[in-house]
Amino acid sequence: MAKNIPELYGSLVFNDKIMRDKLPKDIYKALKKTIENNTHLELDVANSVAVAMKEWAVENGATHYTHWFQPMTGYTAEKHDSFVTPVGDGQIIMDFSGKELVKGEPDASSFPSGGLRATFEARGYTAWDPTSPAFVKDGTLYIPTAFCSYSGEALDKKTPLLRSMEALNKEATKMLHLLGRTDVTNVSTTVGPEQEYFLVDKELYKQRKDLIFTGRTLLGAMPPKGQEMEDHYFGALKPRVSAFMHDLDEELWKLGIPAKTKHNEVAPGQHELAPVFDTTNVAVDHNQLTMEVMKKVADKHGLACLLHEKPFDGINGSGKHNNWSMSTNTGLNLLEPGKTPADNISFLVFLMAVIKAVDDYADLMRISVASAGNDHRLGANEAPPAIVSIFLGEELNAIIEAIEKDELFNQQDRVRMETGATVLPHFFKDTTDRNRTSPFAFTGNKFEFRMLGSEVSVAGPNIVLNTAVAEALSQFYEELKDANTDDMKDAVHQLVKRAIAKHKKVIFNGNGYTDEWVEEAERRGLYNLKSTPEALPHFVDDKNIELFTKHGVFTETEIRSRYEIFVENYCKIIHIEAKTLQSMLNHDVLPAIYSYEDELSNTIQFKRDAAGIESKAGKTELAFMSEAYDKIYELLGKLKDDTTSAEALTEEDVYKASFYYHDVILAEMDEIRKIADEVEDKLPAHLLPYPTYEDLLFYA
Ligand code: ADP
Ligand code: MG
Repeated sequence: MAKNIPELYGSLVFNDKIMRDKLPKDIYKALKKTIENNTHLELDVANSVAVAMKEWAVENGATHYTHWFQPMTGYTAEKHDSFVTPVGDGQIIMDFSGKELVKGEPDASSFPSGGLRATFEARGYTAWDPTSPAFVKDGTLYIPTAFCSYSGEALDKKTPLLRSMEALNKEATKMLHLLGRTDVTNVSTTVGPEQEYFLVDKELYKQRKDLIFTGRTLLGAMPPKGQEMEDHYFGALKPRVSAFMHDLDEELWKLGIPAKTKHNEVAPGQHELAPVFDTTNVAVDHNQLTMEVMKKVADKHGLACLLHEKPFDGINGSGKHNNWSMSTNTGLNLLEPGKTPADNISFLVFLMAVIKAVDDYADLMRISVASAGNDHRLGANEAPPAIVSIFLGEELNAIIEAIEKDELFNQQDRVRMETGATVLPHFFKDTTDRNRTSPFAFTGNKFEFRMLGSEVSVAGPNIVLNTAVAEALSQFYEELKDANTDDMKDAVHQLVKRAIAKHKKVIFNGNGYTDEWVEEAERRGLYNLKSTPEALPHFVDDKNIELFTKHGVFTETEIRSRYEIFVENYCKIIHIEAKTLQSMLNHDVLPAIYSYEDELSNTIQFKRDAAGIESKAGKTELAFMSEAYDKIYELLGKLKDDTTSAEALTEEDVYKASFYYHDVILAEMDEIRKIADEVEDKLPAHLLPYPTYEDLLFYA
């Protein structure tokens, strides 16, 4: 049965069309003003919206509402209240007020606050974000909200994101006015996040403690075939996966999430989904929602969706590409080069501002994607290196170089694509080719930040990007503000010339996976922050505190508390991994070895007693298992002791502890894994303690 997709699309969203239909005209206008100009919302407007929202939600099967927010856990949080309101006489009505819409008071004591809020000050507030539409999911009306403490500090990812968008809006609009585009009143950033993930069979998933507790396999020998044939990339979808994807698309469409592209990725069992881009705030909410819906739909199909950055050792991990640009309320994409980019002064200024931003705040960009999971990817020759650099592509590079050298740039005819087959349509080549190894690449009319791990909330990277670009624009404004309107083009060229000389060190168009680049980057003085513990401390560097406080994105207290949360979170993740590994060794691996030893010795003895045969191979195998057992047993004891020490150290000095977890605990886990995986390779099938990589990756 064909479904009516346009009708389905957004059917569970309290969107603009519904608002126009349901709200009194003046209320609708007032709300639109709030959404478009970020003005304050009056309570009578809120009351009226609440009534319409509730009626619509109830029509769509909702009995409850929830303030939906994004605490520092990186996941979303919700607390459900029903609309049920007793009116005496055993009767109820379904009620929802403006006050309930606008403000919530979840008991917030158990969310990470990095010392911002002692547990006795449990009060936290959620505040409605009217710029991201409410929706109905699983019988509940979801209201996107920001989350802050009693004293007004942000405890979430949305608040600073909105502040950063505001900062960029302010600086970008100011700049555009200076450049003569006075019709522009608002600039917003846009984001389209491409999301990678793995699907594995749910029953197999449930048999692996490591997947359940840590999201990644801590043990597991490589299957005979990995991704070397590259036959999975863009390959035909298997029926079960295809059914999942269809279902997923529909669920996302109902929620107004414009899921667009889907395909198989490089690794077996790995896939990707990309939506059409949206305003950053909405895109961030949608990406969080997408990750949740993916898991739910997978479950319905007997699958488990893995969002961890590195679920399988030796197999490509998963990332998320943050496509980013800026656009005006007049519909102009500020990173669109147009036909003659060399003459497009606003393009040049905004392009240069991004380059400057990324160079000046490369450390923050790196930090925004730092996590225990992503440490397995960055720099591992499958994802961009941990060094932040920019890829511009041939044409833009030529333009920038021409300006730097005071040469005239010849706008060559754009190159026609010659496929050699006349039946194929002609099309023009993009101004840039692709460079898969670049962490931050210009891709035609947007930048693609490629260092994000698959599980990260895209809020963090966009907070940094928006704020850093706002700062670059504000500095450029100072340099340009006294220029004569007639000389603006020349002033911009001079500005670009100065800026490029200073920032070209961050531009790199070559292969980012090579060792030569690592050396070259060091010569250029670029950061190479290899691990999360190494990267995080830069968050509280003076220049970074100055950046965020200047633009009102974070207060210094918020920055310091966030830093603490990030470091603590890193320690906790490795701690759980270490404990999970210990449990798997104790309960699964060591007993399997014992059983095999038992079988081997019985066989050896039986052969000897029954036929006088000395089983040479049996003895060798037994010796190997016995040795492996002892070695694992010994290392396990050490890991257990060291994990206890690490926990104590976390209490004392979380910063030191993060290095201890990285240098000592992770290294010990790797050492044990090597032996355990060798054992797994040799165990008879009936003694395998958990589903293997082969089971997980090839039979979904
Ligand atoms: P490709 O990665 O092949 O270049 P697309 O050009 O279709 O693919 O874009 C990939 C992602 O980038 C999509 O999510 C798309 O919506 C998003 N995107 C396209 N234009 C912009 C833009 N101006 N701002 C933010 N994201 C964008
Ligand atoms: Mg892409």
